[in-house]
Amino acid sequence: MYDCIIIGTGPGGLSAALNLKIHQKDVVWFGSKDLSDKVTKAEKITNYPGFPEISGAELFEKFHAHIARAGLGITEKTVTNVMYSGSHFMVLAENEVYEAKTVILAMGVMAAKLMEGEEELLGKGVSYCATCDGMLYKGKKIAVVCNAPKFEHEVEYLADLASEVLYFPTFESKVDKENVKIGKDAPVKIHGEERVTSITLRSGATEEVDGVFCLRNAIVPTKLVSGLKVEHGHIAADRRMATNLSGCFAAGDCTGRPYQYAKAVGEGNVAAHSVIDFLASLEK
Ligand SMILES: Cc1cc2nc3c(=O)[nH]c(=O)nc-3n(C[C@H](O)[C@H](O)[C@H](O)COP(=O)(O)OP(=O)(O)OC[C@H]3O[C@@H](n4cnc5c(N)ncnc54)[C@H](O)[C@@H]3O)c2cc1C
Repeated sequence: MYDCIIIGTGPGGLSAALNLKIHQKDVVWFGSKDLSDKVTKAEKITNYPGFPEISGAELFEKFHAHIARAGLGITEKTVTNVMYSGSHFMVLAENEVYEAKTVILAMGVMAAKLMEGEEELLGKGVSYCATCDGMLYKGKKIAVVCNAPKFEHEVEYLADLASEVLYFPTFESKVDKENVKIGKDAPVKIHGEERVTSITLRSGATEEVDGVFCLRNAIVPTKLVSGLKVEHGHIAADRRMATNLSGCFAAGDCTGRPYQYAKAVGEGNVAAHSVIDFLASLEK
């Protein structure tokens, strides 16, 4: 069992990971080796102490060098579910379960809006994990929405199982399979009561489908961690960055505005120190 699982490789997750490493904690850090779009895409940063003017690309290089120097490892997986057993956490990342005494949520904020019906039909035909649920759609017709090229191998995996895939990427796709129909339109509503039956596209057209896969960089916090308290769309956390779940802490944009590097880094630091205190209290 790990001491801590950190979800998110933005400045918040990085700050938490560095501090836990210094304190020699046994950590798994989930996210991307590209760290965060919100770092690489910033044109000019002028409010980060120590760097009067730096581009996002330069800051990314500095973060990368720091990660290498600290000997931190990133597990390049998207977490799709966090379950609290009452004593520890079970974290599902691409069909593998990881267990830890504590969790730090540093996933940033999700830009994509949920489709109408997505929340209600999650687990009834709506899925966030191709590896976990793909087999359920063998020989069936599905829709896939995807906002990152890194998930295209999952789309190909789904295409090998399903009879037909209506695919809606938000970027230029490289998927080339006979049973995959790439749509320029986008689903806005998912229909069904007991199970998914169809989707409505922005154009107003309706397509019958048996399931809808949403392969996105981020998952709404309440869908990721059941029982997690959210206020006004952000994870509710106190000054120790503790959430309502014992041993679960949060840091960065996911806890609320202002959305800023310095706030994310500061909260990642506080969350890491709260984890250290929490682990010490478990040992007593
Ligand atoms: C264009 C732009 C310019 C900006 N300029 C400035 C500026 O000048 N100054 C400033 O202070 N701030 C600026 N910001 C804001 C700043 O980028 C954010 O406040 C900061 O990146 C937040 O850090 P974070 O660690 O909370 O989250 P993020 O940087 O969003 O990182 C979260 C990470 O978690 C990953 N993740 C999410 N869900 C999962 C999951 N389920 N499993 C695994 N990984 C997951 C994401 O892929 C992402 O890599 C800018 C933002 C943008 C978009």
